[in-house]
Amino acid sequence: MKKPESLTYCPCCGTPKPDWDYPVGARICTLCSMLDVSAAVHLTRETVKRELNVTEYTLAGRKSARIKARLDMYARLGKRCTACHNRKPADEYHASAPQSDGLQPMCKACNKIWIATMKSGGRQAWHAVRAAMRAASPEGK
Ligand SMILES: [Zn+2]
Ligand SMILES: [Zn+2]
Repeated sequence: MKKPESLTYCPCCGTPKPDWDYPVGARICTLCSMLDVSAAVHLTRETVKRELNVTEYTLAGRKSARIKARLDMYARLGKRCTACHNRKPADEYHASAPQSDGLQPMCKACNKIWIATMKSGGRQAWHAVRAAMRAASPEGK
């Protein structure tokens, strides 16, 4: 039985290489240890920068994929408003970058009512208005 070769990531060129490709006791691969110091430092910097770009790209890619999946779902079922509990299409919500789906949790109509009610009657008045809206919603409670 042949064991799979264990690979060690070379922080200089950024390539995983088998252990025999490293000089004894060295952290960087044979090829990289043959470079002169400034070339090795330069290559390491380039590698770190490239890895960073990949991470950022993956994060951004994941976020936009998640948002797209949510929007597809909203197109079919609507997004449930946290205030009135009605399901509404995505364009009934203001954009909000920090939200996981890129939209405000409360619909545009409720947002308007929320601002006006908070201004005139404060939190308690808002809770009463919100309860009435929820009671009227077919999604209920
Ligand atoms: Zn290397
Ligand atoms: Zn609403």
